[in-house]
Order: sequence, then C-alpha cells, then structure tokens
Amino acid sequence: MSTAARAYVHGLVEENLGLPKGVIGSEDLPADLVDHITSAVRGKTSREAGSPLVEQELNEFLLEVKRYSLERDGFFVWKARWPEARPFAACLTHDVDNIEHTRRHILSTRRRFGAGDLILGLLGLRSLYRNIGLVAGEEGRKGFRSSFFLLTSNYSLSDLVPSITPLEEDGWEIGLHGDFGTHDSLEKMSEAVEKFQTATGSSPAGVREHYLRFDFEKTWQIMESVGFAYDTSVGARDSLGFPLGFSTPFHPPTHDWSSMKILEIPLVLMDTTLWGYLKLEEQEGMAEVERMIERVRKVGGLFTLLWHQEAIRMRGGRLYPKILEKLAKMDCFVSSGIGVASWWESRSVPLVREGHEYKFRGTPPPGLRLHLEYSQGRRPRVEGGDLVATQRGNLVKVNSGEFSLRVE
Ligand SMILES: [Zn+2]
Repeated sequence: MSTAARAYVHGLVEENLGLPKGVIGSEDLPADLVDHITSAVRGKTSREAGSPLVEQELNEFLLEVKRYSLERDGFFVWKARWPEARPFAACLTHDVDNIEHTRRHILSTRRRFGAGDLILGLLGLRSLYRNIGLVAGEEGRKGFRSSFFLLTSNYSLSDLVPSITPLEEDGWEIGLHGDFGTHDSLEKMSEAVEKFQTATGSSPAGVREHYLRFDFEKTWQIMESVGFAYDTSVGARDSLGFPLGFSTPFHPPTHDWSSMKILEIPLVLMDTTLWGYLKLEEQEGMAEVERMIERVRKVGGLFTLLWHQEAIRMRGGRLYPKILEKLAKMDCFVSSGIGVASWWESRSVPLVREGHEYKFRGTPPPGLRLHLEYSQGRRPRVEGGDLVATQRGNLVKVNSGEFSLRVE
C-alpha cells in the first residue's frame, strides 16, 4: 500500500471517527482497514454488501484507540458523529424521474393504484406522478426536510420550478438528477448544470446520477470540477445495503490519493430495488427497510434513502409515510442531502491538543457534542461548554469557539 493511500485513509478515519488531530498516526491504522477502505473507494469491493462491515471495523478501531488512550493518558475525547450526539442519522432523498404519464400508461399499470386515485387520474383531475408537494407535506408534518433531484431533460423544468420554489425557501433542497451521459462526460454534466441554473436561477449543490450510473475513475472528478458540494450516487440498484461497506459520508480520493472537496453520501436503500429487482410484497419491503435502518443504527451510521416521488401513490411507494413515522419515533438526526453534507463539513473542524488542553481550530457547529471518558480520580475542566453525564456516557456540549477542555 502506498504512503499516499495510507495518508488518505488516515484523514478519512480521523474525520469519520471524530478523532482529535494527531491522536493516531497513519502507521497506527490496521492493515486490513486500510486495505478495505482503499478498495472500497476505488470501487473494487467484492464482499457481501448487505452489512456495513467496514463501518464495524471502524468502530472496533475506535474502541482500540480509546482503550489505548485511557491507559496512556487517563482519558479519551472524540467528536460525536451526529448533532446532539444522536445515535444515528437518516438522509431523505427523492429522484424526480417523471411527473406525468399518458392515460394509456395509467391504464396499463392500473393495479398499482387505489380506486380513488385511479379514477381521478384517468379523468385528469389528479396528477398521479407529480407528488413533490405531497411528499414534502408528509415530511413537514414530522419536522423533516429532504432533497429532490431534478432531471433536466425529461420534463419542463421551468414548468416545475415555480411550484417547488416555496419548498426550497422552507428548507427543502433541489438538486440535480444527472441525465444519461453526465457520469462520464464533463461536457454533458456542464450542459445539465447550465440548464438547471437557467431554470432555477441557482447552482445545484447536490447531485445523484440517473440509474445510479457511476464510474469510479471519472464521475467524482467530473462532479468536483463543476463544483458540487456532494454526490449521493454510490449505491447498488439490484441489492440493498452497503456496497462500500460503510454508510457515512467521506471525501473521495483523487487519482493520486489526495482528498477531494466533494463529499460522497453513500446510498443505502432505493425503493425500486425492493419492488423492481427483489420483487417483494409491500410488507416484505417494509421489513427490509426496517432491517436496513437497524443495521445503520447499530453502527451509528447514515441511512440514506432514495424514494421516488412518482411512486408515492402506488402500491409499495405508499409506504413512505410509514417510514417517516418509524424514523420520527427513533432517536436520530434526519435531514436532506445538503443538511447532512453541511453538518459533516462543519463537524470536521479540527479538534487539537495544545499543551494540556483540547481546543477547536475554527468554529464548531451548534449541536456538536464530544464524548469524554476518563479514569477514576481524573477531573475534567470545561470552558465554553457543559459536561453532562448521560446513559451513553459523558457528553460535552460545546457552546462557543472559546471552548477548551482539560483533564487533570
Ligand atoms: Zn432516475
């Protein structure tokens, strides 16, 4: 393994686990972990993708570093992964592939719909495939926000945009759904971004490729060069879970293993995989959704969900409110793509040790918590923050940039 690759993984691990700068060196990383991460981010994983195996390895490594630090220093501090130290997170996203179909299409797929919708749809009194408002309404009732990714070629953007601008003002994100060809052509991608800008008046921060088309050699580079803040295309169409072995965001590597600016938010579950590829019944589909949420929860990861807005009135698709209901009952951070990306970037503010004190080099985001463990007899001193004992251990609430922590 090259030094550059190891240094890249070192950066990824430090950020992922929220470690203070310099607590581990790149030589401390287990060879297996380095190997698994470098293969994953080059798209060369061939292992069973149903479980977040790399994420488990990352968490085991955190335990090891903790054990070692407690022994050596008598305490260990690290950044919580999610706001308010919530145990896991969910990222809600919707690709907008179609917003209408012909009557003939509705008739040929009539079994998908309930009687009321079908009649109104056939009479032209209800649009069965144009459900952005309906989806956002369900989310809004739970206090959630999400991302809608729009194609620039399949429908008139200028028609659609006026109806979604109010949503955007209310915290929903409108991103680009990359049309065919954009994943491996800078020219096509630039064209799509330009069309998007013309129709919406702003640049898209997030992108997802149509059909999750992705080339590990090219796609991130293309997205990076047109200035996306994040992508969320890396996932599998025909299976659920974790093709990379982990669910949390990361900065992809360049060809020579520098870290890119763009953030990747791996996709965990797409609705059409349940029905189109796995041919599941509704109840089985819901059970799979719950199983994946549980797997993510166990590793403290990110459940990134793609639910097509056009399917929300259909059998299968109509489960979406139930999923929201489930997430609302769980202790988790729920946000849009840009919400997750912004959190992740702001959380990466370096936590550094200066003499006997830990401080931030930069401004920590509201909601940031530190985990703190210390041996008996040690006394933590916090300034610009509060130390709170919880069921899940000691948490330090960070209140200001003047924050400092020392353990005597
Ligand atoms: Zn699509």
